Amino acid sequence: MSKKSIRDVEVSGKKVLVRCDFNVPLSKTDGSISDDKRIRESLPTIKHLLSGGARVILCSHMGRPKGEFNEKYTLKPVAERLSELLGFEVPLAPDVIGDKVTALIDALEPGRAVLLENVRFYKEEEKNDPAFAKKLADMAELYVNDAFGTAHRAHASTAGVASYLPAVCGFLIEKELSVIGGAISEPKRPFVAILGGAKVSDKIGVIDNLLNIADAVIIGGGMAYTFLKAQGLEIGTSLCDEERIDVAKKAIEKAKEKGVKFYMPIDVVCASEISADAEAKTFDADKIPADLMGLDIGEKTRKLYEDVIKDAKTVIWNGPMGVFEIDKFSGGTRAVANAMAASEGITIIGGGDSASAAGKLGLADKMTHISTGGGATLEYLEGIELPGIAALNDK
Ligand code: ADP
Ligand code: MG
Repeated sequence: MSKKSIRDVEVSGKKVLVRCDFNVPLSKTDGSISDDKRIRESLPTIKHLLSGGARVILCSHMGRPKGEFNEKYTLKPVAERLSELLGFEVPLAPDVIGDKVTALIDALEPGRAVLLENVRFYKEEEKNDPAFAKKLADMAELYVNDAFGTAHRAHASTAGVASYLPAVCGFLIEKELSVIGGAISEPKRPFVAILGGAKVSDKIGVIDNLLNIADAVIIGGGMAYTFLKAQGLEIGTSLCDEERIDVAKKAIEKAKEKGVKFYMPIDVVCASEISADAEAKTFDADKIPADLMGLDIGEKTRKLYEDVIKDAKTVIWNGPMGVFEIDKFSGGTRAVANAMAASEGITIIGGGDSASAAGKLGLADKMTHISTGGGATLEYLEGIELPGIAALNDK
């Protein structure tokens, strides 16, 4: 079912509470914002509301202040950066709720914005306390959620508040829902899912759900070795999740039952340790030496995976194929990213490290969509209903 967005509502003159994801990384030395991408990504939604004559009340969390005021987690740097980007002063409210905040909002002109302090300064936020959610709601006439990255959390500002106000999504969430939601509900086929990264435990739910939908599943990265071991292969000192070998076996069986093609590495780049100085050598997947670890997919595997990606109409990729942070183990990740970039089908990246790998390669613009959520994207791909989205009004 599709959700209402800011396109579907009248905002002129209204006080609009907008939940953003301003959880930006700060420099450890001087506390300045080291990457303002999340702030810039929220601008289309904010500008749409401002130019529509709304009185915009912005709110977000930052870090984990444990439910009390903590200067270290103030949103002051965010208010300053927002002011620069919007070209007028966005004042930071002295608190999240309370009389002083209400007064500031009452004085707000249409087409102007104010930023509330860090919502996690109240322990009621993460507890999704109804009274706190109502206090947030009472400040506004419309609620807009645009924080996809926290949509898997049922907190007061991400879900609870929607019980008391008309609730719609902003452009960021709207795009996540239409691109990822569209791809998994009515995929253009063949639909290929590529899963990599470090841990089987992080991704097994996603693999399980995608086996219901995809035509092919490709496995790489650190978790591939648990799958190789599940098939009785020697994996040397590679990463292995002993407790999930059975789960891996079941996934391989499920793929067979469902007629989903299941690709695992046929050769791997090995070394004695995760280090730029370690000597890298490629072995077939059934000949991994006992004293070495697999740190990337090999040339033959890359070729195989490229061919599968080339024929796909939809590709979803989550998790690097190897330890891409080190140049000599980055070839597999690069091959997958390049093949996706060259594809004319729908290409979606979910996952922080995969997105940063594509970014480093200068391929971000060549993808249909790079998801802004980490955990939220994974839960969405797992087929779990996200509370922050479920709470919004249906169309
Ligand atoms: P994403 O953020 O895209 O979801 P993950 O966080 O699951 O990806 O995994 C990324 C991490 O996995 C990277 O730090 C990478 O170095 C690591 N990794 C990939 N392949 C291997 C491997 N063969 N052995 C150990 N670690 C690996
Ligand atoms: Mg990661």
